[in-house]
Amino acid sequence: MIRIAFFDAKDYDINSFNNNITDEFEMKYYETHLTVDTASLAAGYDVVCVFVNDMIDKAVIDALVESNIKLIALRCAGYNNVDIEYAYGKIDIVRVPAYSPYAVAEHAMALLLTSIRRIHKAYIRTRDFNFSLNGLTGFDLHGKTIGVVGTGKIGRILIDISRGFGMKVIAYDKFPAKDSGIDYVPLEEIWEKSDIISLHCPLTDETEHMVNADSIDRMKKGVVLINTSRGALVDSEALLEGIKERKIGAACLDVYEEESDVFFHDFSGHIVADDVLARLISMPNVIVTSHQAFLTKEALENISLTTFANIREYLSEGTCANMVTYKPE
Ligand code: NAD
Repeated sequence: MIRIAFFDAKDYDINSFNNNITDEFEMKYYETHLTVDTASLAAGYDVVCVFVNDMIDKAVIDALVESNIKLIALRCAGYNNVDIEYAYGKIDIVRVPAYSPYAVAEHAMALLLTSIRRIHKAYIRTRDFNFSLNGLTGFDLHGKTIGVVGTGKIGRILIDISRGFGMKVIAYDKFPAKDSGIDYVPLEEIWEKSDIISLHCPLTDETEHMVNADSIDRMKKGVVLINTSRGALVDSEALLEGIKERKIGAACLDVYEEESDVFFHDFSGHIVADDVLARLISMPNVIVTSHQAFLTKEALENISLTTFANIREYLSEGTCANMVTYKPE
């Protein structure tokens, strides 16, 4: 029996993992995040299963190794929350590289349309029988330029969707895809030429705060920024300034750099301590969803099936196609 300690468990996770569990596995679901203070809950289990806001730092890795945990199974694609350099040679990590790139790309487009057609405002108005159109003027996407940063699985689907809307697509990727028919430009041109910018690259030392005061300065007035990737790609204080200066026309944020203490929890009725987040949410041209882009039935199904398959493969073969690899210098 493979025993799995599952952290940051939500009802939708529990439902989908319980739907796909087989006799080989035994699950213990914990609502709490995995931290150095909660790592002892994993003692006696074979595997820890974690999500985007469980911080797997040096102290957590030491605690897991001490408890003889055999594997860290990420049930997400990104692994910026894991100190993979420190984990190297101590404990292996697997991930779910793709569960539904459509879910995320479609959410990016949903946020864009909601924002620029003022659907979030109209929804509230008509529920109050206010049928005025004042202040709801949007703009056509047809003919506009979208700059896509990161042309991996999600970025490419957004490119296809955007072309369907008759938009001109330009893109930047550190590793451009050959013969893809994508119009790659330098990153500066993305900032300077795009009416809409959507981020789809991973969070690394290089990409952290790639949207900052300098890049915002280069952008077109009225630009719409979409971030469904990782919060720290955007310097939130610089974004707030850009919005206050009317440089940024709208921001659609599914991720936020300080999200780990807030997202996925119900703080209604509480006072949110994060002033930058509170101010962003107060803006009429900012839409925040709480790391929801992945949340479709199809994605949850793929996450649970792939996670079980990863664990099964790793524990039977000592390796796994979805292992997170770190190459020492
Ligand atoms: P992917 O690995 O298929 O694509 C990432 C692309 O980024 C690759 O083409 C890569 O070459 C490029 N890249 C790497 N370094 C770069 C750099 N410095 N500058 C520009 N491009 C760079 O990943 P994906 O499946 O398309 O996912 C993209 C991101 O979306 C993930 O990193 C993850 O953080 C995020 N994500 C968010 C959600 C959500 O629910 N909001 C869900 C899944 C993934």
